[in-house]
Amino acid sequence: MFAAPVNRLITELARLPGIGQRTAQRLAFHILSAPEEEALALADAIREVKETVGHCEVCFNLATEATCRICQDERREAAAICVVEQPSDVIPIERSGEFHGRYHVLGGALSPIDGVDPEDLHIAELLARVGRNGAGAGGAGVREIVIATNATTTGEATALYIADAVRGKAPDVVVTRLASGLPVGSDLEYADEITLGRALKGRHAL
Ligand SMILES: [Zn+2]
Repeated sequence: MFAAPVNRLITELARLPGIGQRTAQRLAFHILSAPEEEALALADAIREVKETVGHCEVCFNLATEATCRICQDERREAAAICVVEQPSDVIPIERSGEFHGRYHVLGGALSPIDGVDPEDLHIAELLARVGRNGAGAGGAGVREIVIATNATTTGEATALYIADAVRGKAPDVVVTRLASGLPVGSDLEYADEITLGRALKGRHAL
């Protein structure tokens, strides 16, 4: 229906989450009518983010250097690690202001049906961080693992798996889960900060 380059743009935009065919068309026409520098600024921003942003080699959060800003921050407590599914989950927890430890981003949740097994997530790396306790790693060992995976079936299964694995590796480390109050079946990134703050404060042992 449209010229090939326009179709290509619509196809690419429609790949974005929450963008249907009609919205993709509307965005494409907006980009077509926008000033050239504005449209190219968007293209440049996408290129830059892909070229410069990678994953922290410690916690797998987004990072523009080898490690992320949170891992580099000496004031963050090393005794607590909050385990989340995606880098986007770090943001609402940070906004709640209730957590002052470090993070560990799994890169997803266990889902055997979709072929996501423990080795597909950064679970081994988490266990290595926990296992480094007392091995002269700066002296500050991990004492608590706060599991903040989503309140979905896969998120809950992941929480239980990690709790077991951590207990097997370091029985002295307390494993906690966010208190209920988060809507069941929902993703962490959609929780408001007050609810999330409360869930963090009321976390319980798993
Ligand atoms: Zn990090």
